[in-house]
Amino acid sequence: MFGRLHLLHHPAEHLPFPEGAFDLVCCLEALEFMVRPRAVVAELVRVTRPGGWLLLTNRLGTDARLMPGKAWSLEQAQQIYQEEFGLLEVEVQRWQVDYSLIWARKPGESLPTRSRPLEEVWCCPRCGKTALLRVAGAYRCTACEARVPVGADEIIEALSAL
Ligand SMILES: [Zn+2]
Repeated sequence: MFGRLHLLHHPAEHLPFPEGAFDLVCCLEALEFMVRPRAVVAELVRVTRPGGWLLLTNRLGTDARLMPGKAWSLEQAQQIYQEEFGLLEVEVQRWQVDYSLIWARKPGESLPTRSRPLEEVWCCPRCGKTALLRVAGAYRCTACEARVPVGADEIIEALSAL
């Protein structure tokens, strides 16, 4: 843990958080490197609360040609996020030479989730319950006894508990 930031090594196509767990979900300069970026976006949308916001990026520029199906024009990105994922208020803007920045709101309304301790929202990679507690060098699930190691670099190695 770095202050209030946790680094969790886990597949992005199946995020270990309940539906609607976060007010804002951010994924910058990463989607184009995913095997199935649309599946990852679906997960990002799932864990955003109704009425919450997503902040994403889309690869542009000459490198985008090397990523067929994973980088879109500004117009394509807006259409995909609106029509395929049903997001509202999709705003696509040039951000850097190689990226556009995308803001979008998930439809619906719900109370803000606000910042909470990781243990309150992180689902055990083995049993799926929010029952993980920090112990020396790891997190331990009080429901199924799974042990999720935390490296010396403080990265939580959730893959090893699957
Ligand atoms: Zn468990």
